[in-house]
Amino acid sequence: MADASAVAGEDGGELTAADRDLVRRYCTNVDRRVFALRNLPEVVRGALFSRYSRTEKSLRRVLLDEFLLEPAAGIEPGGGPAPDGDGDGLVDAGRAEDFYQRVLVGYGDDSVAELAGAHLAVERVSNLAAKALEDSRVGISPLEKSTRYVRFDRRGAGGRFPYHRGPELRHPAYEPAMDALFEAYSGLVGPLTERVREAHPMAADETERAWKTATRARALDLLRGLLPAGTLTNLGLYGNGRAFEYLLTKLAASDLPECRGLAGEMHAELAQVIPAFVRRALDERHGAPAAAYLADARRAVAALAPRGGPPAAPPAAEVRLVDHEPDAERRVVAAALFPHSDLPLAALGELSVDVEGVLRALLGGRANRRHRAPRALEHAHYTFEITANFGAYRDLQRHRMLSQERQLLGTALGHDVSPELAAHGLDGGFRRALERAAEAHRALEAELGPALAQYAVPFAFRVRWYFGSSLREIYHLCELRTGVQGHPDYRHVAQEMFRRVREVHPRLAAHARFVDMGEAGDLERRASERRIDRRLDELGG
Ligand SMILES: Cc1cc2nc3c(=O)[nH]c(=O)nc-3n(C[C@H](O)[C@H](O)[C@H](O)COP(=O)(O)OP(=O)(O)OC[C@H]3O[C@@H](n4cnc5c(N)ncnc54)[C@H](O)[C@@H]3O)c2cc1C
Repeated sequence: MADASAVAGEDGGELTAADRDLVRRYCTNVDRRVFALRNLPEVVRGALFSRYSRTEKSLRRVLLDEFLLEPAAGIEPGGGPAPDGDGDGLVDAGRAEDFYQRVLVGYGDDSVAELAGAHLAVERVSNLAAKALEDSRVGISPLEKSTRYVRFDRRGAGGRFPYHRGPELRHPAYEPAMDALFEAYSGLVGPLTERVREAHPMAADETERAWKTATRARALDLLRGLLPAGTLTNLGLYGNGRAFEYLLTKLAASDLPECRGLAGEMHAELAQVIPAFVRRALDERHGAPAAAYLADARRAVAALAPRGGPPAAPPAAEVRLVDHEPDAERRVVAAALFPHSDLPLAALGELSVDVEGVLRALLGGRANRRHRAPRALEHAHYTFEITANFGAYRDLQRHRMLSQERQLLGTALGHDVSPELAAHGLDGGFRRALERAAEAHRALEAELGPALAQYAVPFAFRVRWYFGSSLREIYHLCELRTGVQGHPDYRHVAQEMFRRVREVHPRLAAHARFVDMGEAGDLERRASERRIDRRLDELGG
């Protein structure tokens, strides 16, 4: 019999005062219908949620009956809070392994692996591997060390510059060319920062902090083209088990030994925090055959892909619109009207409607870029082919709501050197280091193959990639990436993408009002750093 203070749920799962005392540690409240879980290991959170679809009990009741009071679950309900606050360590993982496996198998399908997540740090990996790790669109959020705020020439153990050196890259041309790139970068950071500071002196209304940060960011932006794809970086990934599982399988299928090695290392760490959710990633029954399929398909398609010899290098970055729908306006307008109408989509598409009136009603009220364009814009699609430097590619590849694939990095499409470096009289050493890297790349390509040779290619060299996107993502990407604070290289690509869309669909493009088509002017970070100062002031220093 429930006591007088019991919380009655419609499910009849009443909680006594004693029950409430038990669950209080694990729920943000014990009596309201909305609550968050806390102080529980990921595996328990995931297993708990997996029960939702197969029970009429409330979640608190399930937590009590099936986990806290169930010895096989291995939870110590009376234990103090875990030192790290998220409850890991509360469960005797070894003892409870079978229990969680049974819950997940019994109550879920593949999607239960989305019910638990992990933060994974991956350090000292090449930029090539970082790109592979960031090539996940659903379920993983990456963040990577910035070439704008961090110097990349700090020497590591043995005084060696930070770039990938695997046994697969043993070639006499590799390390000397990589060292030359880092020597050039290192030698230029100081003098270039000085020149930038002379050209952009501190303003009266600016703090020294803001000025120094903005000028240093400009210098590091100008020099990043020297960094080779083998440059080591650090990144953090937050993701759910299912997304990690697929990422591990893709890494295991990679043609780069570094990525295949990472698959095993990442799996070993994830298996300590979300074991039940990544169990299949590399196993013989599921993961290994899936990876074999991906690798075999890559090899089979590569054998059929025609090659035309070294392409002519374009004089500058290029953005071509290779595909779009002539009837995009009709599609977007029909999709916009659909939820408010009782007509089928096809019928709406055939009606004669006031296109500009509908677009104005839909988009005219946007006051800034964070007012997201609605889904109707996902009914217009564009495919671009972009040829731009790898630095710009690195930035744009991180956009996820679209389809991107690149060709292998190489040196045949030419490179970009900012005219500003030449204006400061500092482009000589920069160009010489690039040339030396290009020679090393050619030697590596001939002897080790084009996939491994990518490590020697500096960010200044161009790569070609396709970019399939809906108009909604074009709005988001172009409004974000044309901001004056962005790196000029990707800013130029985003402006060109927007120009191409505006040429074919001026009325659809007209409402992307926060795209900045202006010329680059002042230091990219200057206004942002001043804003940071103002905010710090407001916060009291
Ligand atoms: C000036 C500038 C500096 C930057 N500096 C750095 C840096 O130093 N280091 C670094 O790592 N990155 C940096 N970035 C990249 C940035 O963090 C994003 O990774 C990148 O811009 C992808 O864009 P997006 O997150 O807006 O989303 P997209 O992938 O383009 O997706 C579009 C929108 O969909 C939604 N969305 C997509 N995926 C998710 C998700 N998993 N969860 C929730 N919502 C989602 C979001 O609303 C998102 O804005 C920088 C970007 C800019 C513009």
